[in-house]
Amino acid sequence: MLSFNNEDLCIENVRLFDIAVKYGTSVYIYSKSQIIKNFTNYKNALKNKEGLVCFACKANSNASILRSIAKLGAGADVTSGGEIYRCLHAGFEPSKIVYAGVGKTSEEIEYALKNNIFMFNVESFEELDLIDKISEKIGVKAKISFRINICIDLETHDYIITSKKGTKFGILYEDALKAYLYAKKKKNIVIAGIHSHIGSQILNINSFKLAAQKIKSIVTEVEKNGVELQYINYGGGLGVKYEKSQKVPAVKDLISELLAAFDLNKNKKFIFEPGRSMIANAGYLLVKVIYKKISGGKKFLIVDAGMNDLVRPALYNAYHDIIPIKKINTKKVKTEIVGPICETGDFIGKDRMIPDAVDQGDYLLITCAGAYGASMSSQYNSRPLIAEVLIDMDKDTLIRKRAGYSDLLLNEL
Ligand SMILES: *Cc1c(COP(=O)(O)O)cnc(C)c1O
Repeated sequence: MLSFNNEDLCIENVRLFDIAVKYGTSVYIYSKSQIIKNFTNYKNALKNKEGLVCFACKANSNASILRSIAKLGAGADVTSGGEIYRCLHAGFEPSKIVYAGVGKTSEEIEYALKNNIFMFNVESFEELDLIDKISEKIGVKAKISFRINICIDLETHDYIITSKKGTKFGILYEDALKAYLYAKKKKNIVIAGIHSHIGSQILNINSFKLAAQKIKSIVTEVEKNGVELQYINYGGGLGVKYEKSQKVPAVKDLISELLAAFDLNKNKKFIFEPGRSMIANAGYLLVKVIYKKISGGKKFLIVDAGMNDLVRPALYNAYHDIIPIKKINTKKVKTEIVGPICETGDFIGKDRMIPDAVDQGDYLLITCAGAYGASMSSQYNSRPLIAEVLIDMDKDTLIRKRAGYSDLLLNEL
């Protein structure tokens, strides 16, 4: 939660300038109260219904962030064995972990089964066969939902649509009944429900409504054929406000739409898997201007974070607001905010109106960077991973140490 204290920008009650001095830059910063608020929005929206909010931990998998979310009573949506490991380490109850992903390996499936996770969101017939076989081998039964590709088109970036025919995700809508009848014959499989995750950064509530209707029709058809589906898992995907002009549906409106698709007197339980909408607006990237440079008629501010630290602008042409951490009243000029990496794609913001006085040594805050920021970062250009700090009211806590040069060689022989 951002606010000015006199001239200084603060997150909760901590001045960003003090964070820069104490921990150096660039640095990811998170607001604990915003995380709690985001989770509470989901929890309250579900209030009268039995259900589970499973944080999609690929959005941000820092151990302290995960622990804070686990403590709130959340479950976790994981997409790899490594994420199961992280979530167990952070204190998530295994019985609240759901596992999606098109490429689960036998080692990952066995690891999940041995740790008694809640359920698999199965994405192919072949995967079901493998889960059945491994369950038999270790003498357990596996709970599953099928992830159904409901085949709708959406307005979001092509890379993050997951519900279109021709993407690699899930079982096609038209094969859903066949999949459930196939699973019913498997001795080591327990059918628990249905899953659908239509994509990410979705701002149109109608897309979710459409998905809910399609899910409903599959559930009706499958249940007519004698297979009961107790859990309805709607996935994640709700967008956040990266740009002031964007309109974001309220969580409570989204959830009430999705719940309304079903007769609530029937004994259904609902699962939601928010990632971005749980953590994006709780995170920031604080950077320092290394150089100001005029070139080819453009003004550049070269900062100390690059696409290895925050890849979203380079990967999705994503927009993040960029603001100075001191109040500056000089006129604003068109500015390119770029990183130090040897790629033209290494930018954080293009054509931004930034106060002309911002200069070498000044700090800028990149907002809404809590989701798919640190978790997608890399050491590209041999840049050690940066520090992460969690703010809770007046208190700031280091939750990831800044890596050093020797970390770059870790595991290399
Ligand atoms: C990524 C993912 C999510 C979370 O998506 P957001 O857009 O971050 O809310 C939920 N479920 C599954 C299966 C995912 O892969």
